[in-house]
Amino acid sequence: MVPAADDPDGATVSWRALQAEAERALAPVTDRPGVDARRIIERASGNLGADYVLGLDDPVTERGMHFFDTMLERRRLGEPLQYVLGRWGFRDLDLLVDRRVLIPRPETETVVDLALAELDRLREPDRILIAVDLGTGSGAIGLSIAAEREQVEVLLTDASADALAVARANLAGLGRAATRVRIAEPGEWFAAVPAEHRGAINLLVSNPPYVALDDDLPAVVRDWEPSSALFSGPDGLDDLRRIVGEAPEWLAADGVLVVELAPHQAEAVAGLARAAGFVEVEIGADLTGRSRAVVARRSATS
Ligand code: SAM
Ligand code: GLN
Repeated sequence: MVPAADDPDGATVSWRALQAEAERALAPVTDRPGVDARRIIERASGNLGADYVLGLDDPVTERGMHFFDTMLERRRLGEPLQYVLGRWGFRDLDLLVDRRVLIPRPETETVVDLALAELDRLREPDRILIAVDLGTGSGAIGLSIAAEREQVEVLLTDASADALAVARANLAGLGRAATRVRIAEPGEWFAAVPAEHRGAINLLVSNPPYVALDDDLPAVVRDWEPSSALFSGPDGLDDLRRIVGEAPEWLAADGVLVVELAPHQAEAVAGLARAAGFVEVEIGADLTGRSRAVVARRSATS
């Protein structure tokens, strides 16, 4: 039995008491302090799901108390919950996340759905498809594709060596699918892609930076997430212009580009894709129904 931490009166402290303390402390920081408190307790206690409630009256260990205190203090100072926990769910994956990478967003899960639909359309028996996730950050998009589809080899790229270190750690936790994933040397967009892939990529997918420099981002995003993952010139389109413009020469004849964007950029990016020579260009929506991606195909589907 691990010794329980004592409170100043000499009595043991339960997780339930810490949950109440965290909820009080976080009320000024977030409008859902109960949710954040629960996630912090789950992480500190290791009690997830049904075990969370069952373990609430267990005595807190010294180590658990220290972990709790550190996480609560960081969250109290405004750090996003995802960085404080150090892990965040994306589709089926439980990804390591820290300040080296963008926190994976729910809207990006929809972008993965669009990419998977294209892979399914291109699939033939015994055909191995090549997918490249440009600007992979935590690895969210590319690792999900590798985990959710066989017959696909995935290359992850990023300009940031720090981000690739996080992607590498997440790749290590992927299991069997990891054998089908490669991580490129750090480099800017297509400069990071080995020359042998030119004209041979079946799916290019990217959630690049697309925020305009003077955009009003929520403080929690602007103050904590890497600016190199967010901002892309005066209209937010600098990186999308480069990616869309160079994509055709890297794609196979029936290859597809899927890019995430902000809703107000969809028409402009669709126009860029047509101008770059893509034959079929569609706009995809996220779960809230807002334009969130462009799917551009080099050849017609019918
Ligand atoms: N793909 C991840 C996701 O969806 O959660 C991260 C997306 S984040 C919006 C953009 C990523 O692009 C960051 O990891 C950033 O380091 C990378 N990036 C920014 N500029 C780049 C460039 N010029 N070349 C390659 N990657 C770049
Ligand atoms: N969705 C992010 C935000 O506005 C932006 C991500 C990006 O630039 N790709 O918070």
